[in-house]
Amino acid sequence: MTRPEATGRLTIDLTALRSNYRRLAVMAGNAETAGVIKADGYGIGATEAAQALSLDGCRTFFVATPDEARDVRACVPEAVIYVLDGLLPGTAPVFAEIDARPVLGSMPEIENWAGWCKAENTRFAAAIHIDTGMNRLGLSPGETIALATRDDLLRSFDPALVMSHLACADEPDNPMTQRQAEMFDELRSGLPVAPASLANSAGILASPRYHYDLVRPGIALYGGAARVGETNTMDGVVRLEGRIAQLRTVKAGATIGYGAAGRAARDTPIATVTIGYADGFFRTLGGCDTGAAAYIGDYRAPLIGRVSMDLITIDLSAVPPGLVERGAMVELIGPHAGVDDVAAGAGTIGYEVLTSLGRRVERHYLGREA
Ligand SMILES: *Cc1c(COP(=O)(O)O)cnc(C)c1O
Repeated sequence: MTRPEATGRLTIDLTALRSNYRRLAVMAGNAETAGVIKADGYGIGATEAAQALSLDGCRTFFVATPDEARDVRACVPEAVIYVLDGLLPGTAPVFAEIDARPVLGSMPEIENWAGWCKAENTRFAAAIHIDTGMNRLGLSPGETIALATRDDLLRSFDPALVMSHLACADEPDNPMTQRQAEMFDELRSGLPVAPASLANSAGILASPRYHYDLVRPGIALYGGAARVGETNTMDGVVRLEGRIAQLRTVKAGATIGYGAAGRAARDTPIATVTIGYADGFFRTLGGCDTGAAAYIGDYRAPLIGRVSMDLITIDLSAVPPGLVERGAMVELIGPHAGVDDVAAGAGTIGYEVLTSLGRRVERHYLGREA
């Protein structure tokens, strides 16, 4: 039940999340399908996502930070958890305490982890991240070749995964993906034999060539489009709604909202809805041609005027008057306009829309078990 005072509602469909996971796992074939649940599970809730994915056999999770790893550890005790941001100085004991594995992306990190393992007399597991072109995290080709000769380091910990990250797999025709895979093959051949991982969501969809032993989908789990210009076959996971606070008719020629940026061409029925940019409904969705709209049933009510911090105004001209009432919920993200449609209107990507959602709205999970 939604509380009457809830000004917005975020409905998260864990059944859709799980069905997306199973679809990706089928595509991944023999490769293990992990779950990337960084940034609070792309905004939907990392612990809820981890628990739901576990039910379908997901046992390896990727988060960005040790704090995120701690939250996941608390709810999925048996999970293997990798921390993508790597090993910050002084944090090795924290990883051990959480039982999380750092994704080691530089020689100092590797030396640090090896030193800690020696001191503890335990070969703790970690991933080795090779940079094949992102130039963000990961060992350079030269460092990878040098590491291959460093038995002292490689023997002191358990290199449980060797991975790299694709820069352009979302662009179907970009030759960089293939080049990165070739470089990955060459560089990892010098390292101890370990399971390999290269593909994000886009890499999974691109080709089995990129699947290796473990795939790391994020955005596709959450229903977002991973590949530019291809049909997105994943199920939508989130639905954002706001409430109608007021109904009014604005006279022809009158303006609406900040900057007097909206103008009624004729006498126009307007609803003021209790969602704004502070709820993750981007301010850039205001203005004329963003395509942003609310939906009432199947009726479309375009945004009119700017997006305020807490409110938007929508034009009800095309909505039968009997369908709108004060206090009713209207859909802003959902089956009619998905995460990527809204992102396109806002001038951003689905990832940013998802991770900006829901600090103030009431959350409802569908399909939550136990
Ligand atoms: C975020 C991330 C992923 C998941 O990427 P998606 O595009 O969301 O599928 C995979 N691997 C690494 C290293 C990442 O940082």
